[in-house]
Amino acid sequence: MTESARIAYLSMEIALEDAIPTYSGGLGVLAGDTLRAAADLGVPMVGVSLLYRRGHFEQTLDAEGRQSERPVSWSVERHLDLVDAKASIELEGRLVEIRAWRYCIRGATGHIVPTYLLDVDLPVNDAQDRELTGTLYGGEEGYRLRQEVLLGIGGVRMLRALGYDELERFHLNEGHAAFAVLALLEEQAGPGTPLTGPLLERCHGEVRRHCVFTTHTPVPAGHDVFPQELVEQTLGAESLRILHELGAREQINLTALALRSSRFINGVAMRHGEVSRDMFPRYPIRSITNGIHPATWISPPFRELFDQHIPGWERDPLSLRYAVGIALEDIDVARRRAKGLLLDAIERSLGVSLDRTALTIGFARRSTAYKRATLVFHDLERLRSLVAQQGPLQLIFSGKAHPADTAGKQNIEAIFRAARKLGENVRVVYVPNYGMNWGRLLCAGADVWLNNPIPPLEASGTSGMKAALNGVPSLSVIDGWWVEGHIENVTGWAIGEDGDTNHLAAAVRDALHASALYDKLESHVLPCFYSERERFLEICRSSIAQNASFFNTHRMVIQYLYNAYGHARAHQLVEETS
Ligand SMILES: *Cc1c(COP(=O)(O)O)cnc(C)c1O
Repeated sequence: MTESARIAYLSMEIALEDAIPTYSGGLGVLAGDTLRAAADLGVPMVGVSLLYRRGHFEQTLDAEGRQSERPVSWSVERHLDLVDAKASIELEGRLVEIRAWRYCIRGATGHIVPTYLLDVDLPVNDAQDRELTGTLYGGEEGYRLRQEVLLGIGGVRMLRALGYDELERFHLNEGHAAFAVLALLEEQAGPGTPLTGPLLERCHGEVRRHCVFTTHTPVPAGHDVFPQELVEQTLGAESLRILHELGAREQINLTALALRSSRFINGVAMRHGEVSRDMFPRYPIRSITNGIHPATWISPPFRELFDQHIPGWERDPLSLRYAVGIALEDIDVARRRAKGLLLDAIERSLGVSLDRTALTIGFARRSTAYKRATLVFHDLERLRSLVAQQGPLQLIFSGKAHPADTAGKQNIEAIFRAARKLGENVRVVYVPNYGMNWGRLLCAGADVWLNNPIPPLEASGTSGMKAALNGVPSLSVIDGWWVEGHIENVTGWAIGEDGDTNHLAAAVRDALHASALYDKLESHVLPCFYSERERFLEICRSSIAQNASFFNTHRMVIQYLYNAYGHARAHQLVEETS
């Protein structure tokens, strides 16, 4: 069964489960959800990523909201199986041996998508190389480059060593995986054959037939770029020459390499496709909007509700459209239960007891400047007066800042300061150590899900999709998936207009968005929640019917099958699922 996989999915991070800390945020969660949907659909796919023995990190916050990080200790052996295949790569002239650990993702009908995490912590390897599979997004530029070489070149070689000889597609999830192109070129030419001129061109044409590239980054600065000296030192002069001959300039840009080497390229939402085409006008970039894997993100009350009303929803989440037929009273009961589960969990772990009847807004994602976690605190006076007039508000935050992201850390501290100033008027809670389990509780347990990044920086965003699945409407700036998912007063509410605000000074733009956020809270969200329960529940129900039925990874994987992996063969690429 393993040898029959046709599609390899390479990603720097994959969120397999909460107890396996090999992911940092949305990219990894998407990768995991993609593989889980592929398993449900019977798609012959295999996943590849790195094993991070020290994980991402464990976050602790002091009374001021200052973050400190601790390496995660987790038992690799408890969660993964060591396989006996071996591969190797050369880094800075040293041979680095690679082994792999397998995690089997079992789909709804029993089909398995094996996922391999590469590990170089072996006694035969040089001490510095053994560190390479230590930390996700850790270390300096050279460390990142070596990790990406390991993922791309090591990933392809490990797949071959495992016996995957029939792979037809290599899906590069973000530019991190682009060095796979070098390994595939070498396979085309045969080891040791110098790749020059027409031979290189022919081999590259062949490689391009097999690669699919998904870009996730809407700003040029977010793309991986390495100095050529560093690439030469790491991979050698011959690889650098090939990269140059394939069009690289002084800097080695992995996005550019992936763009030039792929048969199909896509952004992760309609708007992100547009933004990517503006950034890279020479390439035919399409859109396949992200999704979430419903069975992973459903809360127990909604699982029960759907099991009762929409049998088979897990295997066919497009049928969540039929949530239109669920009675509002039943939605109400499930909503209250999901909120209760969140508030219970917060009480258990933080000792804070929140009000079950107060409007509770959730905001959880990586803490980084562009997500603007503190926007809602822009004008504390206005926030206080809103609440005084209409009813209490509770805000629940969660999210880790990357250890080197000073602005992201300062945002957490600013939330703690605002919490203190607001006192009992507006309750604010910060849940430390955000991960999949808290994500599941928070997205389902809030009454409204808040999202206010600086447009167009949210390529897609997926936490709002998890919320929608559990009947939680979004209150969001029009960016990423919300361009498609937003129907005012039907699936939630928009903050401000859809439009480019980049010509504005940052302070002006933030003031504008904050004011639009207060306006919407005042005129729509608070009155609807407190005085028009029925209408509020209709919005909850429409979030499921309109959005959960579409923004799921089953629909997304099917779109990849048809558009990216090859239309004519899409059905052949699916196993019998009886
Ligand atoms: C869903 C999820 C994310 C992504 O959230 P966005 O709103 O898309 O940024 C990040 N981290 C965790 C743990 C998640 O579950």
